[in-house]
Amino acid sequence: MPGNRARVIVMNNALGPLDYRVPQGMHVEPGSIVVAPLGPRQLLGVVWEPERLQTEEVGDNRLRNLIGVVDAPPIPAPLRRLVEWTADYYLAPLPSVLRMCLSSSAALEGSPTIVEYRATGLVPDRMTPQREQALERIGDRQGLVRELASIADVSDAVIRGLVKVGAIEAVMVEADTPYPPPDPNFAPPDLSPDQASVASILRQAIGAGEFQPFLLDGVTGSGKTEVYFEAIAAALAAGKQSLVLLPEIALTEPFLTRFTKRFGCEPVAWHSDLRQSQRRRAWRAIASGEAKVAVGARSALFLPFSDLGLIVVDEAHETSFKQEDGVHYHARDVAVMRGLFEQAPVVLATATPAIETRHQVQLGRYEELKLPGRYGPADLPHVEAIDMIQEPPDRGRWLAPRLVKGMAATLERGEQVLLFLNRRGYAPLTLCRVCGHRLQCPNCTAWMVEHRLLGRLACHHCGHSYPTPRECPECESENSLAACGPGVERVADEVRELFPDKKVAIVTSDTLWSPQKAAEFVQRMEHGDIDIVVGTQLVTKGYHFPNLTLVGVVDADLGLGGGDLRAAERTFQQICQVSGRAGRGEKPGTVLIQTHCPDADVMKALVTGDSETFYQAETEARRDAHAPPFGRYAAIIVSSEDKAAAEETARRIGKSRPEMEEMHVFGPAPAPLAMLRGRHRFRLLVHAKRAFDVQDVIREWLGGLEWPSKVRVAVDVDPYSF
Ligand code: ADP
Ligand code: ZN
Ligand code: ZN
Repeated sequence: MPGNRARVIVMNNALGPLDYRVPQGMHVEPGSIVVAPLGPRQLLGVVWEPERLQTEEVGDNRLRNLIGVVDAPPIPAPLRRLVEWTADYYLAPLPSVLRMCLSSSAALEGSPTIVEYRATGLVPDRMTPQREQALERIGDRQGLVRELASIADVSDAVIRGLVKVGAIEAVMVEADTPYPPPDPNFAPPDLSPDQASVASILRQAIGAGEFQPFLLDGVTGSGKTEVYFEAIAAALAAGKQSLVLLPEIALTEPFLTRFTKRFGCEPVAWHSDLRQSQRRRAWRAIASGEAKVAVGARSALFLPFSDLGLIVVDEAHETSFKQEDGVHYHARDVAVMRGLFEQAPVVLATATPAIETRHQVQLGRYEELKLPGRYGPADLPHVEAIDMIQEPPDRGRWLAPRLVKGMAATLERGEQVLLFLNRRGYAPLTLCRVCGHRLQCPNCTAWMVEHRLLGRLACHHCGHSYPTPRECPECESENSLAACGPGVERVADEVRELFPDKKVAIVTSDTLWSPQKAAEFVQRMEHGDIDIVVGTQLVTKGYHFPNLTLVGVVDADLGLGGGDLRAAERTFQQICQVSGRAGRGEKPGTVLIQTHCPDADVMKALVTGDSETFYQAETEARRDAHAPPFGRYAAIIVSSEDKAAAEETARRIGKSRPEMEEMHVFGPAPAPLAMLRGRHRFRLLVHAKRAFDVQDVIREWLGGLEWPSKVRVAVDVDPYSF
């Protein structure tokens, strides 16, 4: 670094890197987290290698002094390379990507002891509805005043009032208490011969300490988790850290339990539900290398590991690894890049690999490790399709007679049933029987979804909601609004009518919104406190309930409409996944799939279990269409609250498109969600050959244009659905 200058990426997307003077006595190095002046304000920033970032030359006399260095470990070099790659590949500003590494800046600063609050059990003399609500919702939880206020949905003042009267008390928390190390030899399993041979390949890769991507491919219940636990054990024995990415935070809780059984203590869990003190503790322990294993959703990918020896992406085909706002990145792909920069093996574990991942195997870039059958006595379930045209349900019902009969027989034997429908709420559409008016979200191109349990209509895109009206907002007829189509609540109602003495549970992100709720659900299932689960995709993954023997897919056609490139693949993955919940113990499982198109290739593949033929046909169709992985797409989304401004900008971007043989631009046209959260959206879709550097072209193309500040232009490289 020339003299006492530092080049800093400041946390402001509108700004490029800036140079500062390092005052005497201050020590910084690349990766240091610093406080920098900007105009009258102070901003957090990260010191970078000056030779890696271009910036305007500023004379020494015009430099301003850095204000301070945050007392936290520097962002390590491999993570700095990942930040650069992510910003470059996904066309995102460096500060946005860097922000994902810093977690909350508040978690970095502050002292290692923190004052938190919890309820004392004392009932205040003067009880108000707000105080009552606060104490009830807080329960035995603990946190900062602000955190408790947000849990309880009351103002900070209510919490402070409760502190004053002694109903809530302060507790000191050691935010930096150490994590116990997981023990690789705590309870190792006896591996099957197949598991043992796969595990030994992974162990070798970890020993080699080099980048190597693996596809760990085995049907649900084949023992993949047990095998990558062996890889974690090998990393632990070598003193290295491991990262496990899961698609949903709801899955962390069962993972923690299982991990603890194998390694004797919990790994570090990283998710949005963490309190500030937990966040600080986890971040620092990972940065210092003291925390050996971390598990989390996609945001854990940007944690500052000091010596990462293994990355596992579990259920690697899951769509939730694709982030759809902010930085549009795919955590599966970024995980592979992190492995490259860290020189660590990467394991993508899945029963239904994405076509992109299979393609990497075919090209010889990823090594495939296969586990052929289910572990132990469990067999794959027997799968049947129910043709909803031949065997329709009764009027106003959603379950066909054959499915109801199967449920009755299963419940008779004292076993459990899972009904899968990927739709939250009671009904996806509400319309007026008198005037035909459909209730639509004012902010989005989407119907308002009825949630009968809450007595409200809600938009699943922006969260807008209001009490279900009694009269039609258009023609004011009373009691004219009718629910159309089923959601999980409606199916649960039907099930309760059919089996009034059975216990029914609805499992969706509405009911399972925290790791604690997920743990409660697992317990109730294991204790037999639930006979029938009606759930969305949240129940399709990770869970292992030996007494669950029947899975019913209520509407297998749901994902097939819309002409989406990945519709069939995604339907296949989702139904395989949910089928994988059936018959995981010693009792055989059955899957009944309700569909209007039993002759579709995807349904046939599900029934026969012949995934290879299905995958090959899908792959060929992609090849013919030059679709990913054979071609590449990027979407340019232009949005604004002002429709005309968005449209005008989109048209201008379209007009200035570069003419190139290797690249086609479609649009602009209204985006699939033409309005979202009050913003009108237009889209240009770029289609190019695989090897073509679209990013470079788009960077130059958009870089030469300007648009009003009320218009936002975002690029989604490798968009997931369109
Ligand atoms: P997958 O991750 O492929 O779905 P799991 O690793 O969850 O499969 O294994 C399925 C079930 O079999 C789990 O209950 C697991 O504990 C059990 N299992 C797998 N391998 C072994 C083993 N070697 N010894 C004992 N139990 C095992
Ligand atoms: Zn009406
Ligand atoms: Zn909305």
